[in-house]
Amino acid sequence: MLWTRSIQWFVLSIAITGCAASNNPLRKEIKLLQKGIVKDDTSYVYALPYKAGKKYRVIQGYFSRMTHKERAALDFNLHRGDTITAARDGVVSRVKEDGRKGGLNKKYRSEGNNIVIQHADGSRAGYWHLQHQGALVNTGDSVKKGQPIGLAGKTGYAFVPHLHFLVWKFNNGQWQQIPTRFQTQKGVVYLRAWKKYKN
Ligand SMILES: [Zn+2]
Repeated sequence: MLWTRSIQWFVLSIAITGCAASNNPLRKEIKLLQKGIVKDDTSYVYALPYKAGKKYRVIQGYFSRMTHKERAALDFNLHRGDTITAARDGVVSRVKEDGRKGGLNKKYRSEGNNIVIQHADGSRAGYWHLQHQGALVNTGDSVKKGQPIGLAGKTGYAFVPHLHFLVWKFNNGQWQQIPTRFQTQKGVVYLRAWKKYKN
């Protein structure tokens, strides 16, 4: 069942690869970081945004040609109702959980339930597509890395239930989406599409 949904996602992404790839310079940089050609040992190490011991596949990576064309975001294959945990300590700056609809159509974008958490260095993380009333925290709450914050779903622009995770940094007067390192069972890495990562 789990695998079937990954296949569906994969087939769909193949169907859309006719689209041009993003020109964002970060795209090239991420590839070098993922391969370890460029080393980064100073940036913050995030926790995988799900419970310890759980293992999920990244079903869409950074700047993918499907729905992440201009997005430094990751889609994790969480199922409906699975627990989303905070990837880093912070304060909840936004919660939307009244959305009910979702699907692979941009018209659903505004229905996407989400949580945004502000970190001590001013960066923010976003957790998207939570199920209806799926937030476990409120705006203003302080949260700890690893703390359950919500339940996964398929609200908004989403083909299957999953968690869309991204980090923004305020850079040169604007919010920029950035790739981040994660602690996994196999060490600290930049995550890649189609691989599974255990927390
Ligand atoms: Zn996504």
